[in-house]
Amino acid sequence: IGTLYVVATPIGNLADISERALATLSSVDLIAAEDTRHTGKLLSHFNIKAKTFALHDHNEKQKAQQVIDWLNEGLDIALVSDAGTPLISDPGYAVVNLCREQGANVTPVPGACAAITALSCSGLPTDRFQFIGFTPAKSHARQQFFIEAFESGITSIMYESTHRIMASLNDLQTALGAQQQVVFAKELTKTYETFFSGSVEQLIEFLTQDPQKQRGELVLMLPGKAKQQQEIPAEAKRMLALLEPQMP
Ligand code: SAM
Repeated sequence: IGTLYVVATPIGNLADISERALATLSSVDLIAAEDTRHTGKLLSHFNIKAKTFALHDHNEKQKAQQVIDWLNEGLDIALVSDAGTPLISDPGYAVVNLCREQGANVTPVPGACAAITALSCSGLPTDRFQFIGFTPAKSHARQQFFIEAFESGITSIMYESTHRIMASLNDLQTALGAQQQVVFAKELTKTYETFFSGSVEQLIEFLTQDPQKQRGELVLMLPGKAKQQQEIPAEAKRMLALLEPQMP
């Protein structure tokens, strides 16, 4: 019986591919790629000759059983997306889910993921965080999305597309106020990698001054709402005041 390898690929800097990813892509019988042309370029850069087939959002439900049949025939298959970790705002869920249901072998070959890469250098708390995917397309839903993210009380990481970033930041400002802190990470691992931390108002100004900065691949992060300081009840305060003189 074969194995499905879920292989992460670089999010920009090709030197980030792992040795194990290269070895896996070179040795499998088939590579399931989100876009075979895109993956073809990666493979040819590393001089890997392999058979690829398309597995994307529009066909993965139909293809999932086929993948399992091939695994059952003994073929090893690698699953890759255009960049980063497959399944993370990328295709692959239907296949991995069915593999697990049917007891097929699935194993990760880990590597870059834009969300984790951005978080690791954001300066925001990393002890508890949530990844909430792409922001919604409609303004009202987006405002609600930002409020929920903030109210969760933990760091939120989200993906944003270049043509929507300004509209999104305006919604963020409407929903949480101009002084809301945000971290913006752009073009991670690439030549024009940029991090910006500040208020949403400052970020809007920063991106408006140089619209070039709105281009490219973007991650947006939001700290969670701080927990309210627990107010000590008046009665407890009175008791403490009474006990204090008797404390050692
Ligand atoms: N599976 C990928 C991963 O593991 O990060 C994410 C794929 S998702 C379709 C693409 C989005 O990821 C982009 O719109 C952007 O928000 C984010 N992204 C991908 N590469 C990035 C990079 N180099 N810098 C910043 N964000 C990136």
